[in-house]
Amino acid sequence: MSYDLVVIGTGPGGYVCAIRAAQLGLKTAVIEKRKTHGGTCLNIGCIPSKALLHASEELDSARHHFKDLGIAIGEPSLDLKKMMEFKQEGVEGNTKGVEFLLKKNKIDTHQGHARILAPDRIEVTGEDGATRIVETRAIVIATGSDVTRLPGVEIDEKVVVSSTGALELERVPKRFVVIGAGVIGLELGSVWRRLGSEVIVLEYLDRILPGMDSEVAKQFQRILGKQGLQFRLSSKVTGVTVKDGSAAVTVEPAAGGEPETLQADAVLVAIGRVPYTDGLGLEDVGVRKDNRGRVLTDEHFATNVTGIYAIGDVIAGPMLAHKAEDEGMAVAEILAGKAGHVNYDVIPNVVYTYPEVASVGKTEDELKEAGVEYKVGKFPFTANGRAKVNRTTEGFVKILADAATDRVLGVHIVGADAGNLIHEAAVAMEFGASSEDIARTCHAHPTLTEAVREAALAVEKRAIHM
Ligand SMILES: Cc1cc2nc3c(=O)[nH]c(=O)nc-3n(C[C@H](O)[C@H](O)[C@H](O)COP(=O)(O)OP(=O)(O)OC[C@H]3O[C@@H](n4cnc5c(N)ncnc54)[C@H](O)[C@@H]3O)c2cc1C
Repeated sequence: MSYDLVVIGTGPGGYVCAIRAAQLGLKTAVIEKRKTHGGTCLNIGCIPSKALLHASEELDSARHHFKDLGIAIGEPSLDLKKMMEFKQEGVEGNTKGVEFLLKKNKIDTHQGHARILAPDRIEVTGEDGATRIVETRAIVIATGSDVTRLPGVEIDEKVVVSSTGALELERVPKRFVVIGAGVIGLELGSVWRRLGSEVIVLEYLDRILPGMDSEVAKQFQRILGKQGLQFRLSSKVTGVTVKDGSAAVTVEPAAGGEPETLQADAVLVAIGRVPYTDGLGLEDVGVRKDNRGRVLTDEHFATNVTGIYAIGDVIAGPMLAHKAEDEGMAVAEILAGKAGHVNYDVIPNVVYTYPEVASVGKTEDELKEAGVEYKVGKFPFTANGRAKVNRTTEGFVKILADAATDRVLGVHIVGADAGNLIHEAAVAMEFGASSEDIARTCHAHPTLTEAVREAALAVEKRAIHM
């Protein structure tokens, strides 16, 4: 068992890396400790969460919007077991798809826990405890991330859950407390709110979605508030205790003050994720990590140990599936002697709630901090014909362009289908477009994309429909 490349982990980073390497003629194998491929994303992350977001959004539409369209169906009811089956079938379809692709590309798969013994030797321990050695010329670590724990809060995945447990609750909690107003907390909070829970989101900071454009975050919080999500910002959770299947969450003002206790039927801990390298043997072979536990790499994804590379959630940068995939392709190309590269300035970020939030490039906050002079073009969906007729008028498109060169520096969208709309901006930015370029590109009518064009026109104060 000797290879040109062995990839540890078959999440979006690892399996994509392996496929690209095999395409380029490298003899490639993957090692995965989970029974199915696809990593966090396909098994317990992106895919199951999107399945529940989709299903719960349909239920919400049937309950609240169908009648406006002239569709009378009576009061729809929830079959949670069936909805969970729908989610699981989607997960299986996707993980089997990865299995098929690995086979199609003639990639050997080793199931078991990988431990690096030397830059050219990995030990694989199967579920039955049996071990075998795999030899290789290069190793790519793509072991991903795990849930961040909150000190003093024990996750039992029944009452106090991580995102994994929140995707599998057997009953709709009457009251669902979410700790953390980041992407995962807001997506899963939205799911359970739509399915009938009272949802309270507790956040240590004074804003939701840290890192996203603050104007967008403010508007988005208002929209979610109208949908019934309750927010308690600047709030510090100091403990959660569970008794008789229900939780007591102790929370106090972040700045200090009187603590209070909130009762909940389920509590989601969604305060972030940490890189995962348990039992990988990094210390023994001398691979260095930073103070946040991320594997240190150079711009070619090489660690300090020759022959060992790392990509995805386990290294620095946004913990996103598509970032991991791009790094996977890039490192495979580098190992095959090509010029693999990732443009970190153009990585889209999407929150898949309703409406969606999507962004690419710099936020206004970042530009201000960096002292960059910029112009803003904004266009609300209330003035977009398609949004009006669809009654999806919440939100806006905001384009930030360099004041001197007009180059697009950042695009931020709150609105229906924002996650798809953002990619026009991503392609434009990849090509170094100006706002004028987007403004002069013909956009089909009637589409939501016209709002992107209008925002580009608005940079020079010449939007037509406003
Ligand atoms: C609830 C949730 C929703 C999310 N939604 C989105 C989304 O909508 N869009 C998005 O872009 N991102 C989303 N993410 C983040 C996304 O899942 C991650 O960014 C992505 O999975 C990272 O890919 P990766 O390949 O680096 O690692 P992972 O997907 O974590 O895969 C790592 C794999 O390595 C395996 N492994 C680890 N150690 C070993 C070992 N020693 N031996 C063998 N195998 C090992 C693990 O079993 C795992 O399968 C979400 C995450 C969560 C939790």
